[in-house]
Amino acid sequence: MIRKTVIVFLGLFGLLLLSPVRVVEPVNAWGFFGHKRINRMACFTLPPEMFGFYKRHIDFISDHAVDPDRRRYAVEGEAERHYIDIDHYAKGGEDPFALVPRRWEDAVAKFTEDTLKAYGIVPWHIQVMFGRLVSAFQRGDVDRILTNSADIGHYVGDAHVPLHTTENYNGQLTNQYGIHAFWESRIPELSAENYDHLVGRAVYVERPLDVAWDAVHASHLLLDSVLGIEKRLSMTYPEDRKYVFEDRGRGGMRMYSRDFTKAYEDAMLGMVEQRMNASISTLGNVWYSAWVVAGQPDLDRFEQKDVSDSLKAVFKAEQEMWDENRKGYGRDHE
Ligand SMILES: [Zn+2]
Repeated sequence: MIRKTVIVFLGLFGLLLLSPVRVVEPVNAWGFFGHKRINRMACFTLPPEMFGFYKRHIDFISDHAVDPDRRRYAVEGEAERHYIDIDHYAKGGEDPFALVPRRWEDAVAKFTEDTLKAYGIVPWHIQVMFGRLVSAFQRGDVDRILTNSADIGHYVGDAHVPLHTTENYNGQLTNQYGIHAFWESRIPELSAENYDHLVGRAVYVERPLDVAWDAVHASHLLLDSVLGIEKRLSMTYPEDRKYVFEDRGRGGMRMYSRDFTKAYEDAMLGMVEQRMNASISTLGNVWYSAWVVAGQPDLDRFEQKDVSDSLKAVFKAEQEMWDENRKGYGRDHE
């Protein structure tokens, strides 16, 4: 099930494949911009009892927002946690959300675990991560509070992206290849400086599983616009106005032009900003609710000001593995 790995690399792969110029090492962090910002901004939704702790670790929580994408090389079963191809379940035009049970056990009974994993499990994985975060709070395990907070932010962010809810996740079925990175990376990169992320204070949510499903559902309802507007605009933009070449690393990459990006975003009426804000808001709610369920432990009592040395060693090993696997770009997906 490696084909889905395309999704998780937001900016990199789609553009790499689009490019007629072979780019060996296009890698920098810009493709992860959105995830990092979501995790960072969610800290500001928290109540004072939590804010001190999260603020102290805000760089960690932001920097590690992209770990789940990196881990997909090393961890069996990671890839399917980032999406759900909900339209797979409704080929006849039915409402897929009426067909797929929200509870994992019910969905397994209806479709089998193998099928669910083959088409993605993001809403259920958010629920699993919620449980882990609650337990980390209860144990007072600073390492795990931070890593679980960062990780769950990634999956919450993914659940808010319309293209994470469809088999046509990169426009490959509608001749719109590359739209994934365009939507998730190129647009935030060009526009996020103008975004307003004041989303208000986190609130308690009773059922994180429903919150995750509601996010996926709202994302999926936007899919027609995401694809349809790109299609429509492309008809009025000749190729040389739709794309530009930008120097990224060692070679030119074909990118969507600023003109086209702006026209697309205008036509979508701020959808990317809204989905980003919805991610921030949901993430704050999820963190806050996990802390409440854990019994509202006093986070200021933790003397551990940084993650442990053993966790740092794990990150170092993961980084090395990622660097090693990165050499396989363009070969190990699809
Ligand atoms: Zn992801």
